[in-house]
Amino acid sequence: MPVQLGTNERPLRVAIVGSGPSGFYAAGALLKAPVKVAVDMFDRLPVPYGLVRYGVAPDHPKIKNVTSVYKKTAELEGFSFLGNVNVGTDIEVSELKKYYDAVLFACGAETDRKLGIPGEDLKGSHTATEFVAWYNGHPDYRGRAFDLSGKSAVIIGQGNVAMDVCRILSKTVDELKATDIACHALEALAESNIKEIHLIGRRGPVQAAFTPVEIREFGELADCHPVVDPKDLEVNQASQAELDAPDNAQRRKNYEILKSLSAMQPGNKRKRLIVHFLKSPVELVGDKGVQKVILEKNKLTGEAGKQKSAGTGEKEELKCDILFRSVGYRGIPIKGVPFHESSGVFPNDKGRITENGQVVPGLYTTGWIKRGPSGVIGTNKPDSEETVASLLADAGTLTPCAQPDTRALTKILNAKGKRVVTFQDWLKIDAAEIQRGQKAGKPREKFVAVEEMISIL
Ligand code: NAP
Repeated sequence: MPVQLGTNERPLRVAIVGSGPSGFYAAGALLKAPVKVAVDMFDRLPVPYGLVRYGVAPDHPKIKNVTSVYKKTAELEGFSFLGNVNVGTDIEVSELKKYYDAVLFACGAETDRKLGIPGEDLKGSHTATEFVAWYNGHPDYRGRAFDLSGKSAVIIGQGNVAMDVCRILSKTVDELKATDIACHALEALAESNIKEIHLIGRRGPVQAAFTPVEIREFGELADCHPVVDPKDLEVNQASQAELDAPDNAQRRKNYEILKSLSAMQPGNKRKRLIVHFLKSPVELVGDKGVQKVILEKNKLTGEAGKQKSAGTGEKEELKCDILFRSVGYRGIPIKGVPFHESSGVFPNDKGRITENGQVVPGLYTTGWIKRGPSGVIGTNKPDSEETVASLLADAGTLTPCAQPDTRALTKILNAKGKRVVTFQDWLKIDAAEIQRGQKAGKPREKFVAVEEMISIL
């Protein structure tokens, strides 16, 4: 008799690779489905929550409250966490398919986009990805060093990640010490000499990618004064049309906030955040490390809503002691899964992974690795629901896996020397971090080494 997937006797077995927001929203949707589903969620780290733990800025703790929703999902019947297992290296996708009827990739966008300009890899030129992961205590980045002994920091890009980086550089230790920032980062930032932070946007104030809440904060910092040139707020006709468009409330808000920042008096604050518009980096220059950035002035071309930046040929130099490239993330490939090189995503049709336009049976994707690095955390919920709807619609046609047994898989991983971390284990790590944090007046003091996490279990 053919195996019927989704029954009490034989639940539909789904492996979710990645335990960030999109993975948890997918797990929630699967476990609330009318058929019986067993979800095993894998993460290469022993701890869950991905971007919420290692991407969200420490001084935005409210955003992290969303983990209480994910914890509830983890408590649902049928959910298991298998942390400290790297799919692609500890276990290949082809092997994983022996234990699961479907594999759903929710592994985010782990690396950065390149600028593609000379000098990009000079010492002192970093990606925002590295800096964010470092101050958030990501084990892979705890050993990174950022030389903050110079005066001038330059950030390329004007998205919300750039804003996070700006704030961390602009805030005082007092503004950061009660957050869950990694203590190695707090110590380094306490010694920082940075006085000028330049935020470089290639387009104008109306097109900037940051959101109003993020830009507004720069008017409220204890020791950093925002500098916005009122002349930069004089916009062309197409930008005015963008401002006037009824569905552009966020852009109007941004613009109003920029206007109010441009009118602020400096006072005696020690740091300055200087916002630049219509400038692109064309070269980073320096002997041993980056010393200056060559910027080309831009003009906007194209119709309202589709304006692009175009170089004018006019150049200027900006002194720079440290630089952060914050021009968007991209996904990385996993052996055995089709990958779209130019966009950095797993090609898919409504979450079904495709190769040369053909659906690859049993492989699904959601989140940033599905659609690219856009939107806020909540954007992942409908995205994951779409993928889960595709998966459930396919359930009757999926090839049942050969060995529907997580314990057999765990045994194999253990034999390879892997300590598989369960959700119960995570709760112990969580409690220990919270306890460590209490001593320092922080919500938690993260363990920043995998060995430390494992050693307390
Ligand atoms: P993003 O929002 O896409 O911003 C990327 C920035 O880089 C834009 O300003 C873009 O300019 C610029 N850029 C791209 N290529 C460039 C180039 N070659 N030269 C110069 N500038 C270039 O990406 P992100 O900041 O990495 O954020 C990723 C997603 O996470 C976004 O959806 C963001 O809203 C979200 N996020 C949200 C929060 C929050 O809610 N607090 C915090 C962090 C991140 P153009 O506009 O001209 O392309």
